[in-house]
This record gives sequence, structure tokens and C-alpha cells, in this order.
Amino acid sequence: MLRASIIQSVRRYSVNIASPIKSNRLEDKIAIVTASTDGIGFSIAKRLAQEGAKVMISSRKELNVKNAVEELRSEGLQVSGVVCHVGKAEDRKNLFEKTKANFGGLDILISNAAVNPAIGQVLDNTEEVWDKIFDINLKSTFLLMKESLPLLKRNKSFSPSIITISTIAAYRYCESLGIYSISKTALLSLTRITAMELALHGIRVNCIAPGLIKTKFSKQYYDTQEAYDFSTSNIGMKRLGTSDEIASVAAFLASDDASYITGETIAVTGGIFSRL
Ligand code: NAP
Repeated sequence: MLRASIIQSVRRYSVNIASPIKSNRLEDKIAIVTASTDGIGFSIAKRLAQEGAKVMISSRKELNVKNAVEELRSEGLQVSGVVCHVGKAEDRKNLFEKTKANFGGLDILISNAAVNPAIGQVLDNTEEVWDKIFDINLKSTFLLMKESLPLLKRNKSFSPSIITISTIAAYRYCESLGIYSISKTALLSLTRITAMELALHGIRVNCIAPGLIKTKFSKQYYDTQEAYDFSTSNIGMKRLGTSDEIASVAAFLASDDASYITGETIAVTGGIFSRL
């Protein structure tokens, strides 16, 4: 009985999380967010734009890009859009060229795209699945980082920023997330090592490790009451996170408020621990 009422109040509280955005700390900054037509990427793009950034929206499907750009522009936000499948070299080239042409440079790169085409035990999966997951979740971030450097290094702002998106599953065993988890653990290392390599260029590299966030990607973990109850039973706050709760952390890390943070991963999980 007591437990049920605690859960109820936590759920009620979660409805009131959003607060009006008052900051303009990203004014005049230019950002790319990959996979930003839905879910966490869309929320990040929106939040950066609400804080004053000019944001390049992108994902694989033209219609999704068009819809996302229209929605954000209708709110008076400064966004542009381009099709970019992060696994395609031509698309990535176009992404950087269009960003430079439309906005004049780049201050913030957020590498958000990821796939998980097959769940199940690691050793039951095929080489094809392994390659697909590593190509999109890890290699494309490496390539986006590398290809963004000419624009980021030319930057005159105080601390250009790269942000990668991992997951709490990078730290711990999560049943069925096998290869996806491995690719995301490698992303933590990519973040840490490139942060050291780029520190002297004044470019910060950080990572966010979300817990269970309510998006299409995670639907199977909450789409029935049974799945929801099971998923939230392991979360301290007994609720799913929202993509806006990832976006606010991304905006902080991208801003000069985080000017002395690099090589770090912030876990945003409602109380699933990633550390001692
Ligand atoms: P989502 O809701 O499924 O969002 C998918 C977005 O990615 C769409 O805009 C989609 O648009 C785009 N997309 C998919 N494949 C792409 C590709 N190859 N290239 C470019 N864009 C692509 O996913 P999400 O939950 O927001 O996840 C975003 C990130 O958070 C991922 O890195 C994921 O691993 C991480 N994460 C999520 C959770 C969670 O619980 N949701 C937890 C931990 C970490 P198109 O179809 O038009 O391409």
C-alpha cells in the first residue's frame, strides 16, 4: 500500500518536470545533432535552439527532417535540416557542408544516432549484426568527430564541444542488449581518449549515459503494464526518464558552464548507478 502510494506520487511529480527555458547561454553557437528528428536527438536539438543555438537537424528520412524542422521553426527556433544517415560518407560530408553554408561554422557536435537491430545473447548473433551495430554506434561517431575537426578547430569560441550518447547498459549487464552494450562501452573509451587528444585544441569531449528513457527505441520496455513495472522496479526513482531530461544535460555540457569538464560521462538514470 505504502509502496503503491510512493510510486503514484513519483509518477505525479514526473508530470511537472518541465520548466520554462530562461537561459540564452548558447546564443550564437552552431550545433549539429545527429538522429534529431525524434526521441532524444529531437529534444536535444530543441533545447539547444531554445537556449539560442542555431541547430542543424538530421536523420535518414527526408520527410522526418522536413517535419522536425517545420515543428521547431513554428516555435521560432533557428534550425535547418539535411538528410544524413550517419553510416554514409556522402551524407556526413553534406551535413558539414550544409552547416557551414547555412550557419557559417560549428561549435557543438552531438553524435546521437544508434541502432540495435537484434537483441539477444552476444554469441548467438551474426557477424553482420555485429558490424551494423559497431558501424553506426561507434565508427560513425569516430568519423563524425574526425570530420568535424576542421570546422571546430577554426572556432573562435571558448570551448567547442563534442558530446556522445552512450547508455547505462555500457556499465552493466542488461539482458538481451549484448552487442549494443559492448559498442556503447567502447564509446565511453572513445570519449575519454579523444578528450585527452583534443584538450590542447580547446575542444571538450563528453558523454551522456541515459538510463531508460521513454522513446520509440525503448518501447518494448514500457508498452505493457507488466513491462513498465518490471523496467521501473530497478530504477531508484521508479519511473522512466524523458528525453527532455537528457536534453538539459546536453545543453549544460555544450555550454561554457561546463568549460572545465572533459572526458567525462554523466549518467542520467533516475538512480541506476554507474559508479562505486
Ligand atoms: P529513437 O527515439 O528511436 O530516435 C531515432 C532517431 O534516430 C530518429 O530521428 C531516426 O530518424 C534517427 N536515426 C535512426 N537511425 C539513424 C541513422 N543511421 N542515421 C541517422 N539518424 C538515424 O531513439 P532514442 O531513444 O532517442 O535514442 C537516441 C540515443 O540515445 C541512441 O544513441 C540510444 O542508444 C541512446 N539511448 C537511448 C535510451 C532509451 O531508453 N531510449 C537509453 C540509453 C541510450 P530516421 O528514421 O529518419 O533516420
